Amino acid sequence: MLLATLLLTVFNAGQGRIVDMTFPDEAGVKSMQVVWNDKKIPVVRNGSKWETIVGIDVDAKPGDREAAVEVTFADGHTDRRSVTFKIEAVKFPTTELKVDDQYVQLSPANQSRAAREAKELDQIYAKITPEILWTKPFATPVTGQTKGSNFGHRRVFNGQPRAPHAGSDLKASTGTPIHATNRGRVVLAKNLFFTGNTVVIDHGLGIYTIYAHLSRIDVKMAEVVDVNQVIGLAGATGRVTGPHLHWATRIQGARVDPFSLLSIE
Ligand SMILES: [Zn+2]
Repeated sequence: MLLATLLLTVFNAGQGRIVDMTFPDEAGVKSMQVVWNDKKIPVVRNGSKWETIVGIDVDAKPGDREAAVEVTFADGHTDRRSVTFKIEAVKFPTTELKVDDQYVQLSPANQSRAAREAKELDQIYAKITPEILWTKPFATPVTGQTKGSNFGHRRVFNGQPRAPHAGSDLKASTGTPIHATNRGRVVLAKNLFFTGNTVVIDHGLGIYTIYAHLSRIDVKMAEVVDVNQVIGLAGATGRVTGPHLHWATRIQGARVDPFSLLSIE
């Protein structure tokens, strides 16, 4: 049977959600990758299946968008098959705020620090580790908190639209233990201007999780952490009005609701 007949060709996705792609194994297949948004996303063999996770950015244009699955066989030839992502618009709340300009404008020193840190983070998120580092289903980082708030929330300050809120805010008082959502490697563990004490974990396949505003960081760079391991304590560091956990994920650079990870089997 031809692999083409077995491949699903249409995948439904919402803005800020994941596409969980699974393909059956077939004799002679050596490797697979999904090509989406100029990114090459590895598809990995998992038992009798091939699978990968693709992130759909919160600002992705709704509608039918084309992606490709490249299948390379042991004899060296590659088949390129077209698939469609049906991207549905998600309604996110918008808040218009009028505030004193001094709260919108950063000092030149803070502005250059924030810009430097944004660049550093973009370089981290651009890297796609070509293997699955996670071992179990993803778990919420705050025990008992199975949902958060504010993902995708758009704020307009004095008529100037800001980037949508790219994470989810979880209730957590200062000192609450924060757990790694899954196994992975620590790729950032330090203080940043906006997000305060911040930990970023690489789970493989371009999936990163971010934990912000911590009062204490308990992990080191390059450390491999296990699912549910305590990585620090909640707090109110960085630009915040009170203690909480800002939890976020970047998937191949796309800003995705981190609670989407909990649906991965
Ligand atoms: Zn937040």
